[in-house]
Amino acid sequence: MIVRYKYPLLKYNSFGIDVCSDKYIRTTTIKETADLLSRGDIDPGKLLILGGGSNILFTGDFHGTVLQPAFNHINIEKNEQEYVILSAEAGLNWDSLVEWTVKKNLGGLENLSYIPGNVGAAPIQNIGAYGVEAGELITKVHVLSLENGKPAFFTARKCMFGYRDSVFKNELKGKYLITKVELRLRKTPAEFKLAYGNLEKVVLEKGKITVRTIRDAVIKIRKEKLPDPVLTGNAGSFFKNPLININKYNELISKYPEMPVWETGADTYKISAAWLIEKAGWKGKREGRAGVHENHALVLVNLGRADGLEILELSRKISNSVQTMFGVELTREVKVV
Ligand SMILES: Cc1cc2nc3c(=O)[nH]c(=O)nc-3n(C[C@H](O)[C@H](O)[C@H](O)COP(=O)(O)OP(=O)(O)OC[C@H]3O[C@@H](n4cnc5c(N)ncnc54)[C@H](O)[C@@H]3O)c2cc1C
Repeated sequence: MIVRYKYPLLKYNSFGIDVCSDKYIRTTTIKETADLLSRGDIDPGKLLILGGGSNILFTGDFHGTVLQPAFNHINIEKNEQEYVILSAEAGLNWDSLVEWTVKKNLGGLENLSYIPGNVGAAPIQNIGAYGVEAGELITKVHVLSLENGKPAFFTARKCMFGYRDSVFKNELKGKYLITKVELRLRKTPAEFKLAYGNLEKVVLEKGKITVRTIRDAVIKIRKEKLPDPVLTGNAGSFFKNPLININKYNELISKYPEMPVWETGADTYKISAAWLIEKAGWKGKREGRAGVHENHALVLVNLGRADGLEILELSRKISNSVQTMFGVELTREVKVV
């Protein structure tokens, strides 16, 4: 275990915000983490669990303890006829897990290639990309209580996965540290999801359809589309795509027939936050040291030593103008600390 005071977090958040935490602890095993939490000397209200920091905006120094799990093993839990159940520990880099599965020709995670961050955060917002969400593959999430370090687990049903949502962002917010995630993957990949955007075309350019060619295609598309946080601080999509009801849908579509829409269930439509932001004139705009990416209106960027408050202020202006123009509320995907 590593314990530090006044610890700089610049390297631990993809927005590249230069802040410190009063205390920083990195744990290297689940047992060590359970022992630490069981002592009860960390106030859960002043505790921040940090993964790769790719979905966090720090608005100032963190006056509490940042706990970063660094345990990162992968284990095959069950080997069934058609499926493998594997567990991956919280501190493992998500994309290293995807690469590990693709190398073994296991099917399921290939569309989720190249998403930054660690395994422990994946269930929190049910990460998703290219038509797949992690919650479709996750069977169990193992946790430790932040109050007393006691272990527990939640089945996928209890995790209540939704669009960029789970029980860990709602009723169980701030109650648990996720220690490991179990996933069910196909041993002979057969069903591929290629309908999203131009994915199928790019896969076919790479050869026949395999988990490897899908992973390569997803990485290629993502590299072309999204700014690299190492070069330009960002946290991917800053806002979620709004869900609207049929009345709002009818109102907007009659005014903007070109508006991209996905039907998501009875009386619910998902509309593109990027389209709304672009239409409101924000794409590529700069406000001081913060801005909106020129190729992707959903991505707010740190244009050089911006502080978190500047980025937050920009996000508020964007939300306000989308609200005024379309009467639609944007919800943040990024956690503001
Ligand atoms: C360039 C870029 C592209 C992205 N693309 C996508 C995308 O396609 N799809 C998508 O869904 N997301 C995307 N994201 C967002 C981000 O990658 C995911 O949300 C990722 O899961 C965050 O992981 P992290 O480890 O960095 O979490 P952090 O940012 O460290 O933490 C995020 C939240 O999870 C909590 N948390 C982290 N670990 C644990 C744990 N072990 N136990 C309990 N709570 C924990 C934190 O307290 C915080 O509330 C993108 C981000 C970037 C920078």
